[in-house]
Amino acid sequence: MKAYVLEAVNKLEYKEVDTPKCKSGYALVEVKAAGICGSDIPRIFETGTYHFPTIPGHEFAGIVREVVDEEYKDLIGGRVGVFPLIPCKECSPCKEETYELCRNYNYLGSRCDGGFAEYVLVPIWNLLPLPENISFEEAAMLEPICVARHALSRLDGVKGNSVCIFGPGTIGLLMAQWLKIMGAEQILLVGTKEKQAELARNLGIEKFCNGKTEDIEKFIKENTKEQGVDIVIEGVGNNEILTQCLNVVKPGGKLLLIANPHSNAQLDKAVYWQILRKQLTIYGTWNSSYHGGLESDWTKALEAIEHGDLKPALQITHKLPFDELHKGLNIMKERKEFYNKVMIVR
Ligand SMILES: [Zn+2]
Ligand SMILES: [Zn+2]
Repeated sequence: MKAYVLEAVNKLEYKEVDTPKCKSGYALVEVKAAGICGSDIPRIFETGTYHFPTIPGHEFAGIVREVVDEEYKDLIGGRVGVFPLIPCKECSPCKEETYELCRNYNYLGSRCDGGFAEYVLVPIWNLLPLPENISFEEAAMLEPICVARHALSRLDGVKGNSVCIFGPGTIGLLMAQWLKIMGAEQILLVGTKEKQAELARNLGIEKFCNGKTEDIEKFIKENTKEQGVDIVIEGVGNNEILTQCLNVVKPGGKLLLIANPHSNAQLDKAVYWQILRKQLTIYGTWNSSYHGGLESDWTKALEAIEHGDLKPALQITHKLPFDELHKGLNIMKERKEFYNKVMIVR
């Protein structure tokens, strides 16, 4: 099969490799769509995967082509989404079914071979059969959709709240979509590009501040009767934005940290003081919940797309042929043209 193999940092080769051999407990999935995650850029160009060679790509969907276990044969030919985290199922978080906190997990596309290939070997436990009206492209966005939902579910309720998101990238706008579904009263976005505002408007979110050219604090005050927001979300991962977040959240408010930091987090004493003086609650979030229950992020995500409440396809700005992954990676690396979700399809 053809696959993109990361041989070393910054050495991603598109080449012919052996198709994985199907084994008990696994399914061989033919990839139909695979999204490039923001985290794939440093993973491929700067830090590498956990070992080499590895096929990256953890956001994908496709068709089950092979299963060896008699009891799962009916999966063959089925369209599936994939939860990329493979938990150990032995540690204490796994015993409590909080697999996102597993201490010894495997991961498709960073710790083992993932979706930038024609075929991937996926544990049957990680497969989600897709409703008919969900496309492969939409299903390839399930992972970021669930990461976005999981982050918001950490907040102990958003209904009736004013929320400001710094960083309207893929996850940022997916969070904005979820906030609408969850009944947030006011959704405010702070970004840096007019194209982001345009895309947000297409998703029904009007309140956008260009942090480069406009006064952020004024924007927040105008939209919250001078109070500040109930919830602020740091979706960029740098000190300056973290400082702005602490400035615009109201006393007694909540700060949600979701972005991977680009450097050490450092705060001026006066800014740090806001956490104390405003009695803020700070939330962290990691990955998404997947316990097969009705309340899992993955179950809720499928439901929301199926019913048309969540529209991930609107965030796909680039759909490239399978053999043009490098072009997609470069668009995201160079940041010269606007993108939200870039994916390859076959
Ligand atoms: Zn991702
Ligand atoms: Zn575990």
